[in-house]
Amino acid sequence: MVDLIKSPGDPIWLQYVPTVQELEVEDGLVDSLAEDENSPVPNITHRYPDRALFLVSPVCASYCRFCTRRRKVGDPEKIRMSQLESAFRYLEEHQEIRDVIMSGGDPLLLSDRRIDDICKRLRAIPHLEVLRIGSRIPCHLPERVTPELCAILKRYHPLYINTHFNHPDELTPAAVHALGMLADAGIPLGCQTVLLRGVNDDPEVMKALMQRLLAARVRPYYIYMCDQVAGAEHFRTTVQKGLEIVQALRGWTSGLAVPHFVIDAPGGGGKIPLLPEYVVKLTDKEVVLRNYAGKTYRYSQPHEPILVG
Ligand SMILES: *Cc1c(COP(=O)(O)O)cnc(C)c1O
Repeated sequence: MVDLIKSPGDPIWLQYVPTVQELEVEDGLVDSLAEDENSPVPNITHRYPDRALFLVSPVCASYCRFCTRRRKVGDPEKIRMSQLESAFRYLEEHQEIRDVIMSGGDPLLLSDRRIDDICKRLRAIPHLEVLRIGSRIPCHLPERVTPELCAILKRYHPLYINTHFNHPDELTPAAVHALGMLADAGIPLGCQTVLLRGVNDDPEVMKALMQRLLAARVRPYYIYMCDQVAGAEHFRTTVQKGLEIVQALRGWTSGLAVPHFVIDAPGGGGKIPLLPEYVVKLTDKEVVLRNYAGKTYRYSQPHEPILVG
């Protein structure tokens, strides 16, 4: 990553190099998403009806300056498999959970063997249909994506990986190669991007990022408003800016390159989607719509059904 920095203050520098602004912390490293409140057992956040977040490793190589879990990340102490036991039990007992998101830290910083052990244990739980991994490794440490790792991961399909790129310059040849290896292992790839002031708060930069992701076989999944993380205030920008970016994507480039724009609501409300206003008027008779270029169209509602008695 460091070799991508062209000059101090550029989009890569801003994401990785600490600044004094980070010390403007009001209440310590707060848990603004209330993940700890929604945590029935250690390492599990169960907020939605049918899926759960599983923190498998506090170790992370990225040290994103805006990470929502900074309070947890960075502990060099590896979690022992036995410490995950209560989490595995919780997942076994809760049959409504059909989708588990391995998170951290970065799950792909664990050893091949540990990743294999965790996936094997999860796959032994019959009601878990889908496994997911959230990882910034393809962006940050693409050399970690080895043929051995891919061979392990492909044994646990359906397995999805959501990665994290914030700027088109991050799609280096090495990153694109790593993404190709994961895709060749049959893993559908998504990307979760964070809207960051000075990094990607520009429609042209975001469009280039989304197009390059798509060309690297990654389907953009979410653009997040930056969470209210202590010490990351200088990264935040307005919701209007996010809406402007989505408006500049939808219709203007491949629909496949347009992610959902969401706010992860503080206090544990979960992800809430935001959309520029395309519905001008909605009545029982018709809807008046605005297209991507700003032109207006009408669509008639179905006529009321005639009830035959
Ligand atoms: C983001 C998130 C999920 C997954 O949400 P999807 O919209 O299904 O990707 C699950 N649990 C928690 C706590 C999350 O923050």
